[in-house]
Amino acid sequence: MKKETEIPPEHPRAESLQIRERLVKHYKAGIVAEAGLFAHGRGEAFDYLLGEKTIENALKAIEAAAAALLTAKHPVISVNGNAAALATMDIVRLAEVTEAKLEVNLFYRSAEREIAIENLLKKFGATQVLGVGDAASARIAEVGSERRRVDPAGILVADVVLVPLEDGDRTEALVKMGKKVIAIDLNPLSRTAQFATVTIVDNIVRAMPTLVEVAERLKKEDRHKLKTILTNFTNKKNLSEAMNLINQRLSKLAEKGTYISISPKEEQ
Ligand code: ATP
Ligand code: MG
Repeated sequence: MKKETEIPPEHPRAESLQIRERLVKHYKAGIVAEAGLFAHGRGEAFDYLLGEKTIENALKAIEAAAAALLTAKHPVISVNGNAAALATMDIVRLAEVTEAKLEVNLFYRSAEREIAIENLLKKFGATQVLGVGDAASARIAEVGSERRRVDPAGILVADVVLVPLEDGDRTEALVKMGKKVIAIDLNPLSRTAQFATVTIVDNIVRAMPTLVEVAERLKKEDRHKLKTILTNFTNKKNLSEAMNLINQRLSKLAEKGTYISISPKEEQ
């Protein structure tokens, strides 16, 4: 297998290939689950359709997400293997800026993976990581799976939870508990995207650094302005816009009848 450095930078999918390499590396280090590799593939397919860039409407969702985190009483960032592998530094920075807690929350729980993720986050400066081992002692009801373990000091009492790359049943369960859920999901059709309070339809590798920047900027604004940003945001409308964008983009490309010769950067 090629190393990151061996991917020619002029390759039209260079970034995407580097991300794959990063996931494989973290899979080997016990951070990413096998199923996480497949989940990423599903996301990649939608990134292709979006044009592999942050769309205007994702920026609106990012603003709403930052406002929700900054006005929360108990914000929590839920971290799984893929998120830890793809956005380690930004997860830690976002927790600092928004004073959110970090909680490891895995679909495929394993003590080793929890500890590996905790260590990775701590290596990047996290001071406290919830949800590891016996700390996840509370149970919440979840549709379609057994009761999930969460940390009583974290997700259980959170009013706003950021779940980058979450499963639909889990998102629904959190919303049913009355929490505001922020999801980052490339697929506007997924149940996660549909159930969440704020869905950022973007690749986590692009969305997270932008979310940190926007949170840093909005932190200087007063609470009233942040609340207004949040109340003016409608997730359904935002998801419709994302679907329309895919639709229009494909219609345009279909008129040309080819995509092979057009790189994502040339397209605009
Ligand atoms: P749901 O359970 O929400 O209906 P699903 O079952 O189709 O979704 P899962 O396997 O549960 O999908 O979760 C993977 C989700 O994560 C997919 O919706 C995919 O689009 C998204 N995803 C994967 N990689 C990324 C990434 N790098 N950035 C953003 N989203 C991603
Ligand atoms: Mg799912």
